[in-house]
Amino acid sequence: MSGGGEAAAIGAGQQPGDEAAAEQQQQQQADGEQKITPWDVTGGADGKVDYNKIVSDFGVSLLQQELVDRIERLTGRPAHPFLKRGIFFAHRDLGEVLDAYERGQPFYLYTGRGPSSEALHLGHLVPIMFTAWLQRAFNAPLVIQLTDDEKTLWRGLDQDEARRLARENAKDIIACGFDIGRTFIFSDFEYVGGPFYRHIVAIQRCVTMNQVRGIFGLTPEDNIGKIAFPAVQAAPSFPGCFPHIFGDRKDVKCLIPCAIDQDPYFRMTRDVAPRIGYDKPALIESRFFPALQGESGKMSASDANSAIFVNDTPKQIKDKINKHAFSGGGATLEEHRARGANLDVDVPWKYLNFFMEDDDKLAHIGREYGAGRMLTGEIKGELIRLLTDIVARHQAARAQVTDEVVDAFMAVRPMHEALATAGRRR
Ligand code: ATP
Ligand code: MG
Repeated sequence: MSGGGEAAAIGAGQQPGDEAAAEQQQQQQADGEQKITPWDVTGGADGKVDYNKIVSDFGVSLLQQELVDRIERLTGRPAHPFLKRGIFFAHRDLGEVLDAYERGQPFYLYTGRGPSSEALHLGHLVPIMFTAWLQRAFNAPLVIQLTDDEKTLWRGLDQDEARRLARENAKDIIACGFDIGRTFIFSDFEYVGGPFYRHIVAIQRCVTMNQVRGIFGLTPEDNIGKIAFPAVQAAPSFPGCFPHIFGDRKDVKCLIPCAIDQDPYFRMTRDVAPRIGYDKPALIESRFFPALQGESGKMSASDANSAIFVNDTPKQIKDKINKHAFSGGGATLEEHRARGANLDVDVPWKYLNFFMEDDDKLAHIGREYGAGRMLTGEIKGELIRLLTDIVARHQAARAQVTDEVVDAFMAVRPMHEALATAGRRR
């Protein structure tokens, strides 16, 4: 068990300065400073998200090269491009999970999605693709939560519609290549009850309304479902919620891959963990895949103009990139040739950094475009080809995912084999 001292010293759910942080955040917004919450990502006065500031505000650790090397050594695989390129850039206690793994103790993965749109967008593919890679590399059991309840509470989605979207999103998730013997996908509306609900209530007992206000900025005007919900997202961090996978073992560590906007949920969870007899979950956290309009915001399902969805047609992808992708290229051809593109703000360049696997080709594009020898239209052309191909392959994989396959991934079924064989190379 990791020490209960932290909780005892500062009180469950309450990180030092949480309330002060909430107040500071309100002040910052008024000053045009950045805002990062699970519901909203807005860059600072210069329009950009300052990741160093997030690291210090949230108190997470930077993911140093040493840990990336260690993952390569332990798994015998080259690091995923998201690791090599610093897209997953922050963590909490990743070293402890790797220590346990090295001692032969398996861990499990937990990630999720709030079903607010018919299809996933490219930003969602970041944690999902990376989780699929981690599952293969570490042979790890995995639980994926679909928070259909959250989308009803926050967005007023009709309950049946939220449940339908959860299943549609599950198809996109499954198409990213998960091992059915090790993966349990569940929707909150379907799975709450039994041990999962008992864990939710145990967590709710440890967190006060003041703490929820401090961590999430919720107010007395918010509906009471929102105030109770953080415990629902916290609970899957604990293996006791899944006896069909973990039996009665409480000592299986949990590693959560997600974008950094989800960190507040797990700060709360980590503080509660020792009070209910569990290890704190570890996290590995990514940057945001930016909105088409630029780095001031993340690609969000709730803002269709900001996003490329995995069900977009080739024409939609082409039009969105040509019309909306923010360019760092020069205003005129002469200026571009003379000064080159500003890669710092160029959206096509950012997107290529996420999804172009070929390191050499990527570096070449960066040099040519940055020097003004390559034009905006050309880099956009590269990106359109790459994303059209990724999306076409995704759509082909998704077409294979029938309702029966979704039912199979979502069935509460004995999965003890997943744990018994976890960590061992196949
Ligand atoms: P909504 O706008 O309805 O909140 P969303 O696009 O923010 O939807 P969520 O379902 O809230 O997506 O998030 C699911 C997972 O995807 C979380 O781990 C979240 O951190 C991650 N995620 C969401 N948007 C991005 C993005 N632009 N880049 C990287 N990860 C993202
Ligand atoms: Mg969201």
